[in-house]
Amino acid sequence: MVETLLNIGIDDTDSEVFGCTTHVAARIVVHLDGKDGIRFLDYPLLVRLNPNIPWKTRGNGAVSIRIAVDESKIGLDEVKEIVLSTVRSLSDLNSPRSDPAIVFLNRVPQKGDLLHSFYLRVLRSMVSPIEALDVAEKVGASCSFLKTSKVGVVGALASAGAVFDDYTYELLSYRVKENYGKPRMIDRESVYSMDKAVSDNTFNNIDPETGRILITPHGRDPVLFGIRGETPQAVYEAFKLVKAEEEIECWCIFKTNQGTDAHFPDKPLAIGNIKKYDSVIVEGEVVEKRIIQGGHVIILLSQGGERVFCAFYSPTGSLRKAASELEPGDLVRVYGGVKEHKGLLTINAEKMEVLEIRERLVKTSPLCPKCGRRCKNLGLRQGFICERCQESIMEPQIIKLERGLRKGFPYLPPERAHRHLTKPLKRYGREKHGFDANGFISQWHFP
Ligand SMILES: [Zn+2]
Repeated sequence: MVETLLNIGIDDTDSEVFGCTTHVAARIVVHLDGKDGIRFLDYPLLVRLNPNIPWKTRGNGAVSIRIAVDESKIGLDEVKEIVLSTVRSLSDLNSPRSDPAIVFLNRVPQKGDLLHSFYLRVLRSMVSPIEALDVAEKVGASCSFLKTSKVGVVGALASAGAVFDDYTYELLSYRVKENYGKPRMIDRESVYSMDKAVSDNTFNNIDPETGRILITPHGRDPVLFGIRGETPQAVYEAFKLVKAEEEIECWCIFKTNQGTDAHFPDKPLAIGNIKKYDSVIVEGEVVEKRIIQGGHVIILLSQGGERVFCAFYSPTGSLRKAASELEPGDLVRVYGGVKEHKGLLTINAEKMEVLEIRERLVKTSPLCPKCGRRCKNLGLRQGFICERCQESIMEPQIIKLERGLRKGFPYLPPERAHRHLTKPLKRYGREKHGFDANGFISQWHFP
């Protein structure tokens, strides 16, 4: 039996008010899985791309579905038509913000090849549709567009090029159409007990500081709730513990780069080389710290003669708090997205590690060597005296100021302010390094 690989990339089917690329993918899975001659090579991939692109809807997510087709049983054209008709029927074609694109490839990417490099570029910087069309031609992708604009090809091709080093899973459940836009009906208590029961292998269910439930989105999109976790089993077990109080149209488990920090490059960049909308890591010395109106902390960072502002906004909570403890001379590594602010490139910080904490010494009155009481300061160059024993001492005591910062610790915003790609603290040390031990579990989608 000779099978043909089919790698399908889909993006930009959604707008702010309607539709969702993952929902389209879940419906395609329902149509294709179980069909004679079709074998799924992996879970559908939910591929989050550069979160700094300003015109993208919500989370900037695209999808890749990878299957093997036995053409003696089902024709490739028939498979492609199932995909295209599903996209057509579920996309929000009336919105000026959606530009659905679908790419078909007869290969899967390999680490380091052109397709995979293209994914990494779209994940971390801004790439134009013209470049994407050029790469599509070079890798032999056929592209379909449902509208005249070709913007969607960037994400569609990038998702087809995704190779995950680290990855997680998300089980997404969807509402029936009649309920779109209505308040989401799920039993809140069941979410809290689910979180307690499976918290080791799931993440971002609840914001621990506020108790806010994070598994439900807030928009008009079809998602009822989504559960993020380390394995397909974990998200499925968690899903069964949540009591939905409205009808679920369908659900599907995705493999995803969410919660992996994949958008950050492998190495820090020279400050002089950062570009608008890039996701970057920079290292440098704190030159200046300002706390501006609203409590936002602005740090001026210097490295090799170049300087850049890093903004730690109030919603980043504990991350902002850590930045407020920085002092000139400290060395830090800042992770974030590059934005332009008043004509200057500024890094909107998403994470920080303190590399060196500059020692700060302060002078204080010494303790009396006889009775141990704190001596009295007699004023400039007069020294100190113990008021009980009359013992006099000339030199002040030098003490190290407690800095309240931890070297090497990843300072992050609270869970409620995480981006899809943000790696939560509880995932540190659980990175998968490309190792894949998870085959399909018996039920990974419904219906
Ligand atoms: Zn004394």
